Amino acid sequence: MTNHVIIGNGVAGIKAAETIRRNDSNCKITVIGDETYPFYYRPQLPKLVSGKIDEEKLWGKKSEFYEKNNIILQLGKKVTGIIPDKNEIVLTDGVVRYSSLLIATGGSIKSRKYPGSELNGEVVALKTIDDAKNIKEKVKHAKRAVVIGEDFLTLALIEALQNSGIEVIYLLPGDCLWPEILDKDASYILELKLKQKGIKILHNTDIKEIVIKNRTVHGVISTGETFIECQILGVVDKLQPNIDFLSESGIKTDTGILVNNKMLTNIDNIYAAGDVTQLLTDPSEESPKINVRWLKAWRQGQIAGANMTGKQTEYDDIACISSTQICGIDLISIGTSNPLNNGYKIIRGDYPHPEIDVYKKLVLKNDKVVGALLVGNVLEAGEITKVIKNRTNYSEIDETLLKQMFDLNSRISPFHGFLCPVCKLSLPISQDTKVGDKITCPACGIELTVTERMLR
Ligand SMILES: Cc1cc2nc3c(=O)[nH]c(=O)nc-3n(C[C@H](O)[C@H](O)[C@H](O)COP(=O)(O)OP(=O)(O)OC[C@H]3O[C@@H](n4cnc5c(N)ncnc54)[C@H](O)[C@@H]3O)c2cc1C
Repeated sequence: MTNHVIIGNGVAGIKAAETIRRNDSNCKITVIGDETYPFYYRPQLPKLVSGKIDEEKLWGKKSEFYEKNNIILQLGKKVTGIIPDKNEIVLTDGVVRYSSLLIATGGSIKSRKYPGSELNGEVVALKTIDDAKNIKEKVKHAKRAVVIGEDFLTLALIEALQNSGIEVIYLLPGDCLWPEILDKDASYILELKLKQKGIKILHNTDIKEIVIKNRTVHGVISTGETFIECQILGVVDKLQPNIDFLSESGIKTDTGILVNNKMLTNIDNIYAAGDVTQLLTDPSEESPKINVRWLKAWRQGQIAGANMTGKQTEYDDIACISSTQICGIDLISIGTSNPLNNGYKIIRGDYPHPEIDVYKKLVLKNDKVVGALLVGNVLEAGEITKVIKNRTNYSEIDETLLKQMFDLNSRISPFHGFLCPVCKLSLPISQDTKVGDKITCPACGIELTVTERMLR
């Protein structure tokens, strides 16, 4: 019997398992994960910390799903190596054989080290349910948190802490939030929102030393030589693909596992999908290495699963696309949204505008649209994604679309959409949709009731 093994019980792994079972009702499927929970909606973790949702709302699949689909689930098991010559994976307590293998191990937040941090493992970051529970517990005894970092996962942690009711001081090492995708004008809109919520931001500030008392965090000394007292310290660095266990395997890696568009590695029965991968076709030049990639992981899991059962499908989405919400502001970055080199032309129409927290821009290279950023209103994201994917010339873009995007006086709005609150997929809304109608998100399956806000 064909024996498919999947390492990682995140969105990429679970979508692959689902797809394999759909294509083949007889094969054996084993999912191995080192966390101890069934599949859950990771982007909802900040809400779990702040108590906006309870644990019940987090589950993407419950144990019945695995039983019903005859998927063997091995939780709390860490894979420590792969031996392709023997078709075996190595666990801490034994080996598992496979006929085809998917590596969907995602990434981990690596915290940078500061003097003092080695004294104690109390510094927090938010990646897993256990992290969320740990932070939630700490919040009960805390008045103030200090958080350092600059990309999305830092902002997610800050929001979670602030919504938990404690004071948050944000140390920003540079002068711009999430510089891989945001320019200064977009960053300014989000910074204003953070400040309105009471978050204090200290620009160009790093930690010089962590101050520990009685083996718990007591505060930090900043590079400005100021002592800031705090009971919670969040240090968030970029998400790094979990590939350490592959060093002896012969599976080719760079920053992630190298895969072709079929999600196949250099070994012909080993696939990889989700945050752990690096597509061989990724344009290296200016593409941001974004770590907000739920939908990408979801789609890659499906592609890998289909190919593992003998189908021939390819991943053909834009390499880097990222959608999320920060302080209630929708944000989508597609392709190269903040180029660091010259040679790009930026189209911003009426933006930035001092009175509104909406910002949109297109990035062109040799007249072709190679990137876009939409902040605060993402209605046109679907159409712009197609434009970028098709490498359309700017002059060939539908004028109505450009007018709606960039002309603030435009009242024409044939393009409707909003972000799914769970997985942040940009969902189109048809003209005849009414308040109270039900929409099912095709990415995460959540059923949503249409509200007036969604139709605006
Ligand atoms: C707080 C937070 C908020 C986020 N918000 C958004 C958002 O708004 N929008 C968005 O698009 N994305 C968001 N993301 C990112 C999104 O969750 C990830 O892109 C997505 O989960 C990647 O899925 P994956 O299946 O590739 O990896 P993961 O979800 O990381 O799953 C991989 C699994 O494999 C396990 N594993 C790793 N190594 C091993 C091993 N050696 N043996 C066994 N198991 C192993 C891991 O523990 C993990 O359970 C957010 C992430 C976080 C942490």
